[in-house]
Amino acid sequence: MPRMGERASVAQWLVAPGSGFRLADVDASATPGAPGGKEATVAASGEVHATLGALQERLWAEDARSLLVVFQAMDAGGKDGTIKKVFTGVNPQGVEVTSFKAPTDEELAHDFLWRVHAKTPARGRIGIFNRSHYEDVLVARVHGLISDDERRARYDRINEFERLLTGAGTTVVKVMLHISRDEQAERLRRRLERPDKRWKFRKGDLAERERWDEYMVAFEDAIAATSTELAPWFVVPADKKWYRDWVVLQILVDALQKIDPQFPEPEEDLDGVVVR
Ligand code: AMP
Ligand code: MG
Repeated sequence: MPRMGERASVAQWLVAPGSGFRLADVDASATPGAPGGKEATVAASGEVHATLGALQERLWAEDARSLLVVFQAMDAGGKDGTIKKVFTGVNPQGVEVTSFKAPTDEELAHDFLWRVHAKTPARGRIGIFNRSHYEDVLVARVHGLISDDERRARYDRINEFERLLTGAGTTVVKVMLHISRDEQAERLRRRLERPDKRWKFRKGDLAERERWDEYMVAFEDAIAATSTELAPWFVVPADKKWYRDWVVLQILVDALQKIDPQFPEPEEDLDGVVVR
């Protein structure tokens, strides 16, 4: 258990490349590595938040490299909430969120990475994907839109694409927010009941819920095939929102610390310069 101010090791949520990953081994309601219960963990998050903001400022100032954070989850898995919580207080100027919906006719007339590549973060920026190209091996698989051969080819294309990005100076971090089927039911019920949440409820989500087991297989295979040294997957137990937020903060701060962005040198020697 990390002490206050101490950084938790992100290795505990990392899917080690080529490790025969089993999603069933991840308990969605567990809180491994948390600095304590809800109260202590929320308290500890404040400091990590400040670190995230400071690192983002350096990334922006350096204007050389970028960070892409991909979020995937089942419906009601907490993608929107995580993005809202974790990036509160980060300078919006340097952050761009893209929410990927079912592809348009124009998007479908191109290869599946076309719309995604257009939204990758420019240097100095943090790009956040709320859903992503992974839908093209998840929902596309579960709905039988692609053959098994095409799906496996897409894993390869995705790995190549992410290698292209990392080679161009973009750090790629992928996060699956893993909730249990029971927790999803709770959250969908809450959406129905609460006037301020009802707008999010879509009857179609219930049809997807019926295919829960197929989605779990699709997630497991996709993550196992695409967690690489350069673009790793992290699977975050996400039934408890306070824990999920704290873990995602740890993962982002770790990624930015590895980038280690630096304030650029001033353009010329400023010694002795006085503003009058
Ligand atoms: P939401 O995130 O709740 O706004 O829902 C977005 C919807 O778009 C979900 O039902 C996704 O499955 C769907 N979606 C996103 N990307 C794709 C894709 N590449 N292919 C098919 N459906 C997609
Ligand atoms: Mg939805």
